[in-house]
Amino acid sequence: MTDSLPPRTVVLEPDSEFRFEVDFKNNASIKLIKGTAEIFGTELAEGNEYSFCGRKAAVYTWHGCTLEIQGSFLVEYTANETPMVSYLNAHLAIQDLRIKAKQANDMGPRILVVGPHDVGKTSLCKILASYGYRQGEKPLYVSLDTAEGAITMPGAVTATTINHLLDVEEGFGSSATTAAIGSVAVPLAYYYGYESPADNVKYYKLVTEKLASTIQRRLAADDESRISGSIIDTFGLVDHVGYEVTQHLVDVFAVNVIIVLGHERLYSDLTRIYNDRQDISVVKLHKSGGVVERDRAFRTQTQKAKIHEYFYGTSNYELAPYSMLLNFSDLHVWRVGETVAPTSAMPMGMDPQQAESELVKVTNLDMCLHSILAILDAEDTETEEQLLDSNVLGFIYISDVNENTRKMTVLSPAPGRLPRNHVLMGAFKWLET
Ligand code: ADP
Repeated sequence: MTDSLPPRTVVLEPDSEFRFEVDFKNNASIKLIKGTAEIFGTELAEGNEYSFCGRKAAVYTWHGCTLEIQGSFLVEYTANETPMVSYLNAHLAIQDLRIKAKQANDMGPRILVVGPHDVGKTSLCKILASYGYRQGEKPLYVSLDTAEGAITMPGAVTATTINHLLDVEEGFGSSATTAAIGSVAVPLAYYYGYESPADNVKYYKLVTEKLASTIQRRLAADDESRISGSIIDTFGLVDHVGYEVTQHLVDVFAVNVIIVLGHERLYSDLTRIYNDRQDISVVKLHKSGGVVERDRAFRTQTQKAKIHEYFYGTSNYELAPYSMLLNFSDLHVWRVGETVAPTSAMPMGMDPQQAESELVKVTNLDMCLHSILAILDAEDTETEEQLLDSNVLGFIYISDVNENTRKMTVLSPAPGRLPRNHVLMGAFKWLET
């Protein structure tokens, strides 16, 4: 508990940061008493108490500050060696590209942030998005890290316009903060349904291509966002699948700046690959010494926390989901790519590559128990091809399946009938506790 321990004071010198970790079982709080400070680019308000649970982060100060901290921190220390000056310089260079785009009435920068797992890609994206917003820009944040599900759900690829200050406690936020802020554009999402692009490379490429083309259409009609450009956060794959998918992303998102974080070889390989593309710059930035490796258990807990947050909100913005009983016939459940099926188990004549992105109707609804399903924005009359093209309206959770009554219990963030009947199932299961 936060209040059972006495508060302590931390004084930070200019250009230094307070790094901390709070596990999922505890709460800890941080208050800015004097000076200025920010968490991944978002400024802290003086006197406001920010509370954290299951978080690893840093409070950085450009000019020095005093913090009051309270509660159980798993790790806490101050560091005066940070890469923040180089991150700020990267932002200034990006801002320059925006100014040039404005003058030429052209597209703003499309920045792809790549590197292995746990090098600070998402944190850098937050910093760049926040600095952009603080300069009056409305950049698009694109999250392609399906293990994390930064904005909506693990398994989804999403894009959202940063037209509000990022939340200090939540980062890019969640459906709860979105609901609370009210004005924030609902993120555009497509459902991939697996954790890693390597689980179904063909489908991952398809889903990201769809997201990219929808973004392009939307940006064509929105001058402000088009000039602010996009910041694209990626997975942590640096093997041959990672290279293949990265090059695909550069093509479909028409990327013109690639930022490589914390991986010399990837930087050198990408520099070579794009050597004769004058329109693409490859830059490298150093990983912060504060970035923490998240083990499998922490990742799984973060995913669970994200799913829980989608339905129940956060301690600041609680949501009350609705439980409802549906007939089996009310839902059409689909899966994409039976990648686990051996070639011998496929319909005659179907090649495995094709099967990876084929829609398969789920007839045994027992399979859906404890699954997260994405509601597709598709009419009943649509063809399988059109279903594959559909973006996601929201998610439901199947808490019970009764074969005898042919009914299932569904948890939904909204009351009443589901907006659509076609739902897509991925590999994510969740046991509501
Ligand atoms: P990636 O996107 O490359 O996997 P993240 O940006 O998510 O990496 O960072 C990994 C973890 O380290 C996250 O929990 C993040 O909040 C934390 N982190 C990042 N930078 C710092 C820092 N300077 N001090 C403390 N923790 C940090």
